[in-house]
Amino acid sequence: LASLLEVSRTTIINAYRLLEERGLVSTRIGSGTYVANLNVTDQQANDMPWEQLFSPHYKSPLSSLLRSLVATPTADETISFAAGMPDPALYDLKIIEKALVDGNHGLDAADFGYIPIEGYPPFRRSLATWQNSQGIHAAPDNILIVSGSQQGLYLIVKAFVEPRDYVIVESPTYLGAIQVLEAAGARVLCLPQSSSLDLGALEDYLIRYRPKLFYTIPTFQNPTGQVMPLHHRQELIRLAARYRLAIVEDDPYSQLYYGQQPPPSLKSLDTYGGVIYLGTFSKILFPGLRTGWVTAAPQVINRLAQEKQYVDLHSNNLSQIILHTCLADHYLADHLSFVRREYKKRRDTLAGAIRQYCSTHLDFELPEGGFYLWCNVRPPASPVELLRRSAAAGVTFVPGEAFYLNNTESHHIRLCFATLGEDRLNEGIRRLAKIFKSGTAN
Ligand code: PMP
Repeated sequence: LASLLEVSRTTIINAYRLLEERGLVSTRIGSGTYVANLNVTDQQANDMPWEQLFSPHYKSPLSSLLRSLVATPTADETISFAAGMPDPALYDLKIIEKALVDGNHGLDAADFGYIPIEGYPPFRRSLATWQNSQGIHAAPDNILIVSGSQQGLYLIVKAFVEPRDYVIVESPTYLGAIQVLEAAGARVLCLPQSSSLDLGALEDYLIRYRPKLFYTIPTFQNPTGQVMPLHHRQELIRLAARYRLAIVEDDPYSQLYYGQQPPPSLKSLDTYGGVIYLGTFSKILFPGLRTGWVTAAPQVINRLAQEKQYVDLHSNNLSQIILHTCLADHYLADHLSFVRREYKKRRDTLAGAIRQYCSTHLDFELPEGGFYLWCNVRPPASPVELLRRSAAAGVTFVPGEAFYLNNTESHHIRLCFATLGEDRLNEGIRRLAKIFKSGTAN
């Protein structure tokens, strides 16, 4: 072929290699090269150099892990302690029917057009009233409805953070926040998460790096379940006011307490207008309605609304109408008492099962609220190896390192007790115990 075409042999070989790489031909040793059996769509899919066209993007090694973890627990026999979501068995569909059919509200065609970016006005009003009942002084103008607090976080980072800006986070912290910050090119400073906030280290960061934001989950933290005590909240506000530090308070779990009510939110203690509060209905009602909110100074709300306009114009009306009914009917208070009782039982069941079956391998502090038990795995067992084994045996959880930056090693695992009934919680821990017993998690 080379002499026929008057080109070098190497050119022909390289051309064949290229065709093979693109899947257009296949080579069988000792037989020859054949045109691959392609259908047109395969050929088109292989022809686009997508990677060259994408804008530069931070590639998180954990993105696909997170996606598979939040995927609805599978119908197979796997017991998942991984997804941080409520048990669908506790979703009350009657309230949705009520909102749509015979609620105080009823349906009005006018509610299904475009609405203001900031949200459905009656919902912003009922949410402001609810926030006030929680000690957060908010007028409707202080509230932006967002499509889940994850979107709120994204908008805040988009509005404040430029590449190379400094942002402080607790370590460990919520994986979704780490991903948004890293994707924005932020330089992330870590404050070790513990029940006592290290104000000295925080002040040191403020002086040295002038960070744009401090992202914190002060109540039933994800993943540790810890609560920042009241006097630390007060000291934090004093320090932040002095340095004009913007605090992002992410607060999905404070309503889910199983003993004493937690201390007031940072936003309710805010003396200088610097706290941006993120709330969500995902853990207390329906995560699939994708509805959360931001409470902040009107200038911040306006700036975030501008960003939100570029993303989706406004959050979906139907979800807001349903949640407005939940708030306006005082339905939420009863539902919260019900789920608090239920999750407390589940937390105690999980804790009891670990003490009974895994006490030589796992230890933990009982969280006073939220969804998670943050367990220390005693060496020599390793969380990642344990996950590999346990996934094969039909039980999954999130290894601690998912909540740290830069692949920091962790001896912890996060177990969510909210999604599973008591039988499944017990069975899941019995399965883990078997793996420990077989000594294969080292
Ligand atoms: N922040 C924290 C701390 C969370 O745990 C979660 C959910 N796992 C979110 C934000 C995102 O919640 P939403 O469904 O409101 O986007």
